[in-house]
Amino acid sequence: MKIILMGPPGAGKGTQAEVLVQKLSIPHISTGDMFRAAIKNQTALGVKAKEYMDAGGLVPDEVTIGIVEERLSQPDCLAGFLLDGFPRTVTQADALAKILHQLGLKLDGVVNIEVDQEKLIARLTGRRVCRQCGATYHVLFNPPTQEGVCDKCGGELYQRSDDSEATARNRLAVYNQQTEPLIAYYRTEGLLVEINGDQPIEQVLDDILASLRNSL
Ligand code: ADP
Ligand code: AMP
Repeated sequence: MKIILMGPPGAGKGTQAEVLVQKLSIPHISTGDMFRAAIKNQTALGVKAKEYMDAGGLVPDEVTIGIVEERLSQPDCLAGFLLDGFPRTVTQADALAKILHQLGLKLDGVVNIEVDQEKLIARLTGRRVCRQCGATYHVLFNPPTQEGVCDKCGGELYQRSDDSEATARNRLAVYNQQTEPLIAYYRTEGLLVEINGDQPIEQVLDDILASLRNSL
């Protein structure tokens, strides 16, 4: 299955992706994770991406499209993939269509997780991520059993530097301006599946799986 997981920052894309890719046995392609790995490894890509990410802006299209093209061209994506956080602009969506066409692949669906804007700031500022395995928690809405420790691997939980309130607000503004138009873009293509993300995590997952079964 070849799907895109869309939604504003904090909607729950990463949280749902963790389980979906296991259930569907497909690779998880998160551009945000790829940039964070590049920053950690201090590569040229990481140095470039960091300045945009720290400000809550978008990494330039040509850089982002390049890394996605390289990843999608790998053989493990032939049978399916889950794109998380890409595309984020109309230019990226157009480029994705071209890349998939060249690879002879077709999208099955675009899952859009919807959550009211005022709830997103609380989700982002309370988010904690495992340094070791990348699992996502929330201090109030999805806390680990032991504070600061990952339930899955025992790794240390940290707060992303772009999850400060000021940067989170900027990311939401960028989403509204540059990414939200993609909802209409994929609706026009007949690919959009809309999911209410303001429900318990397990319910959101059930709704996504049911919609994928029904609409594909
Ligand atoms: P995204 O990848 O879309 O930015 P995340 O999956 O990282 O979002 O989720 C953002 C924060 O919201 C995390 O702290 C996560 O634990 C929490 N969260 C995710 N889904 C829900 C939900 N359905 N209800 C409440 N909190 C949630
Ligand atoms: P995420 O992990 O999806 O919340 O992304 C974190 C940050 O990485 C974003 O705020 C952007 O700065 C950058 N980023 C991730 N995906 C993209 C993309 N598709 N286009 C541009 N920038 C991106």
